Amino acid sequence: MQKYDYLIVGAGLFGCVFAYEANKAGKKCLVIDKRNHVGGNVYCENVDGINVHKYGAHIFHTNDKQIWDYVNQFAEFNNYVNSPVSISKGKLYNLPFNMNTFYQLWGTKTPEEAKKIIESQIKEYGFENPKNLEEQALSLIGKDVYETLIKEYTEKQWGKKATELPAFIIKRLPVRYTFNNNYFSDKYQGIPIGGYNKIIDGLLEGIETKTNVDFFENKEALSKLATKIVYTGKIDEFYNYKFGNLEYRSLRFENTSLEKENHQGNAVVNYNDGDIPYTRIIEHKHFEFGKQKHTVITKEFPEQWTKEKEAYYPINNDENQNKYQQYKALSLQENNIIFGGRLAEYKYYDMHQIIASALQKVKKELN
Ligand code: FAD
Repeated sequence: MQKYDYLIVGAGLFGCVFAYEANKAGKKCLVIDKRNHVGGNVYCENVDGINVHKYGAHIFHTNDKQIWDYVNQFAEFNNYVNSPVSISKGKLYNLPFNMNTFYQLWGTKTPEEAKKIIESQIKEYGFENPKNLEEQALSLIGKDVYETLIKEYTEKQWGKKATELPAFIIKRLPVRYTFNNNYFSDKYQGIPIGGYNKIIDGLLEGIETKTNVDFFENKEALSKLATKIVYTGKIDEFYNYKFGNLEYRSLRFENTSLEKENHQGNAVVNYNDGDIPYTRIIEHKHFEFGKQKHTVITKEFPEQWTKEKEAYYPINNDENQNKYQQYKALSLQENNIIFGGRLAEYKYYDMHQIIASALQKVKKELN
């Protein structure tokens, strides 16, 4: 006799939203996670009173009013606006590429002046059919922005030369001919006051949850506990890598507590230069306008992924996509297993997208 309606493998946003909605509909859920905490990659660790985004900086943004209202049920959001800066060859530039950046690059003061330079550089250095990331970027933005703010950062990020990276990685480059440093153009943006854990705790309230439980260490017994399984782990692992493993890019985070109030004056500072091994430094207190006397910074180092490391960004080349399609075909034949979330769908999702996806799947399931 099954004790639960759903065994939810993974207490990330997908699993938690699914559990919350199922529980609300009267279904009995057990949520397990192999980590020693819930929340998946949005988990924040409290370090001396500062919420440290343990798995990388997370800024909530969406255009969808329904999703915004949904997350606001669990936490109030502050009015943080993401305005990163980038350091290149000792100079600071505003991001995303906008009139401030163009002034810093060329001293241009009007949109006409900036547009003229960009258009002439696209004409001179662009390609009709870009074959790699370098050609694509040159065709979209010209030489100066590419060489100063894109090339070395992207090569560090992916561990490959820009000429060896596929063009599709950069589909569009946001270019603004206004003095606007707001990185996202979404209508709603912010950081939950009290951190993302507040949202996760709200979603899991009253639901049985177990951490430090790896599904694969006790698959048979755990599967017998529930009528259905919601699986949000890696899809290739679920099928014991029978078609080979899907590849990811990994990250390593190096945290440092500093006995000073303000280290870099901004939450996110990118480091473009190739001879600096990290891509950015996050100063977490600025996400919440912290007034503490101390601060915590995190250096983010992109790394080659191995099975023992955290899987962060899927490497969406043809080989991995073909493998994923084979795993997906198997998953579609399962009657009692629902696959969802970034690892089970081998897809990069922003938080608002993962919530929308979980809501859609749980609605379909409960109807
Ligand atoms: P996860 O959060 O990864 O949850 C999956 C859970 O399943 C994990 O806790 C894992 O431990 C567990 N699990 C896996 N296998 C097993 C197993 N065998 N047994 C038990 N448990 C298991 N989105 C934004 O909107 N804004 C941002 O600024 C932003 N920044 C990001 C920065 C980085 C570096 C990264 C990588 C992502 C960022 N995102 C951002 C995306 C965001 O992290 C995801 O949308 C979200 O975390 C996905 O939730 P999930 O539940 O699918 O996956």
